[in-house]
Amino acid sequence: MTLQEKKIYGLIGYPVKHSLSPVMHNAAFQVLKINAEYKLFELKPQDLESFLESLPKENIHGLNVTIPYKEKVLPFLDNISSEAELIGAVNTIRVSHSKLEGFNTDGDGFLRHLKEDLRFDPAGKIIAIIGAGGAARAVSVSLSNYKPKIIAIYDVDKTKTLDLVSHLKDNFKNIEFKAADSIEELNTQISDLLVNATPIGMKESDPCLVNKKFMHKNLLVYDLIYNPGETKLIKLAKQMGARTSNGLGMLLYQGVRSFELWTGRPTPIKIMRQALEGAMKKL
Ligand code: NAP
Repeated sequence: MTLQEKKIYGLIGYPVKHSLSPVMHNAAFQVLKINAEYKLFELKPQDLESFLESLPKENIHGLNVTIPYKEKVLPFLDNISSEAELIGAVNTIRVSHSKLEGFNTDGDGFLRHLKEDLRFDPAGKIIAIIGAGGAARAVSVSLSNYKPKIIAIYDVDKTKTLDLVSHLKDNFKNIEFKAADSIEELNTQISDLLVNATPIGMKESDPCLVNKKFMHKNLLVYDLIYNPGETKLIKLAKQMGARTSNGLGMLLYQGVRSFELWTGRPTPIKIMRQALEGAMKKL
């Protein structure tokens, strides 16, 4: 009898060393007694293509993809899911019969956390998003599948805002999409949900992007950042009586979906959640 070789999974990006993904995936492999390990691969841009080509030979069966490669991997994949195509980025690669398949589980992860844990139904709601980068694309596409009334988007880079709004308008009818020129123009006073999809809030020196007069008790403020667990935005929202969430739930559920795609097994969500929460306490 030959011992089955350990399957390798992992995360590619630059940098990746502070990622919590290994903790949650390795906890899931362990509890399901799957002979596999999730590793971090910090890749320089010039090494991306050769690394992706080497996956079958290196016994790597699946990858998560983070900044700056979510769009850059697209030309090297054999096929991509319709959702990843709509979002324009891939955060999960599955290696199947030496072919590379791309998926995007970020939007799915965000929506699952929003609907199942936070009990927020986007249908008919007014939504404001700060940022128009990769995460905002995933979040806005996924929200649009659930028929909100209005999605307003603001990014410091006006071209990115306009590109995303025009892409959404082309793909989703009966939803009003607005390109805001400032955070004030997002009109969060009348919004049900405010999403921070920028990295502003990760550093102690970062400002709070939203003034307190734009917060209210009926607003859910969702910051995609999970480290720190409480950004200045979340603190202010709490003070003003708004509901809040950081991005840990999104991280969990995007990982859950990736795990399902790789293993085809029901995912031990509780174990993955506990592993993440334990790791957060040590940060
Ligand atoms: P990204 O592609 O770099 O997009 C961020 C966007 O925000 C950029 O277009 C950036 O513009 C814009 N921006 C920066 N400062 C701004 C400001 N003051 N006001 C308005 N827009 C501003 O990054 P990303 O991949 O979308 O990630 C965004 C955040 O989401 C990160 O903190 C990331 O860690 C988090 N995230 C969390 C999860 C999760 O599972 N919880 C998953 C994915 C991402 P410039 O490029 O011009 O600076």
